[in-house]
Amino acid sequence: MAQEQVRIFDTTLRDGEQAPGFSLRPSEKIQLARQLDTLGVDVIEAGYPIASAAEADAVRRIATEVRRPIIACLARCHPADLERAAWAIQPAAQGRIHTFIATSDLHLKAKLRITREQCLDAAVDAVRYARRHTFDVQFSAEDATRSDLDFLCRVVEAVIKVGATTINLPDTVGYSTPDDIYEFFTEIRSRVPNSDKVVFSTHCHDDLGLGVANSLAAVKGGARQVECTVNGIGERAGNAALEEIVMAFHVRQDRMPFRTNVVTQQLYGSSEMLAKLTGQGVQVNKAIVGRNAFAHEAGIHQDGVLKDRRTYEIMSAADVGAPWNPLVLGKHSGRHAVQKRCAALGFEIEGDELVRVYRGLMAVADDRKTIGDDDIIAVVGAVRRAAAVPAEANEPFDAPATPVPAMHESGYGHGV
Ligand code: MN
Repeated sequence: MAQEQVRIFDTTLRDGEQAPGFSLRPSEKIQLARQLDTLGVDVIEAGYPIASAAEADAVRRIATEVRRPIIACLARCHPADLERAAWAIQPAAQGRIHTFIATSDLHLKAKLRITREQCLDAAVDAVRYARRHTFDVQFSAEDATRSDLDFLCRVVEAVIKVGATTINLPDTVGYSTPDDIYEFFTEIRSRVPNSDKVVFSTHCHDDLGLGVANSLAAVKGGARQVECTVNGIGERAGNAALEEIVMAFHVRQDRMPFRTNVVTQQLYGSSEMLAKLTGQGVQVNKAIVGRNAFAHEAGIHQDGVLKDRRTYEIMSAADVGAPWNPLVLGKHSGRHAVQKRCAALGFEIEGDELVRVYRGLMAVADDRKTIGDDDIIAVVGAVRRAAAVPAEANEPFDAPATPVPAMHESGYGHGV
């Protein structure tokens, strides 16, 4: 089957940055925008210019300096917001104004305190206004998945009529299930006239841990743009994670024959850069980019991976640009892995010596979460000294002179 393209709309610098603890300085936003360009995303949502003058300047600088992707920025359906957004993207090679208004009755009544008709008028006016500045106008119906479907269809039809080119239907509060989202996109696309003339977009939050699953279901339902963020950062529990969506398509072409322009080998580096700039680490078991994503500690798994990587890995670390060091040693590890890791450190060990080194390391592992290279060097040194082998003859460099039992107190190499 021919692969259809799904556009990757990265909102790390807007929705992601809005999350508590993830603020970036303008220079950091620009650095990250350059990396997103290298990563190959189609659209960078660079910020929310009305938020502050510095934010508007940062968006404008990104629009000036990052030339390949479309540079988008967010604006409410207010003239002042739209004016600032238009100014910010004005230098872009391809600039997009992304305007939004909530369409659910809950948001209209409780938050905006306007009627459905006022909402519809505001949306139409905003899209018309934005089209005077750029041909590329995206409209988002905030809280779309909790909106009345008939009203939502009216709004979408109206904004398409006045020139919106991308229609984003966010699951703003992460309430939907994959079945909901699939039916939602299928139904709206079938009901709204001229829906085939625009690109439908999905923007899913992870409040129930369904952000990625919902995004994939939206694509199945006809969405051809996915909004996502590096490391899944974003408001509350975050947005759908870019790296997970891209690799789901990559690994499961049999079920999802879609391609993206993302250079998968840049995923890990992008994740790492974001973590460093924000000071917010990635959870160790995070899919694709977590420290344990390609690590194996259990003996059976290590043995399998050493014989054939595919036994316990559905993609390779190299595919996502991550370092591959699969033999994490801990109390669940087997001798095969210990031997391999020793060999990587320059120690050829077998037979009785391997048994002694293995026992020494397992004693360390009882006390530790993982075993580091320092521990291996110390244990091998201790085993060899105990066997009266001249240390200089066998060791690639000086091992610590600490006897094995004392290492429990030594505190080095925690490897946490
Ligand atoms: Mn959002």
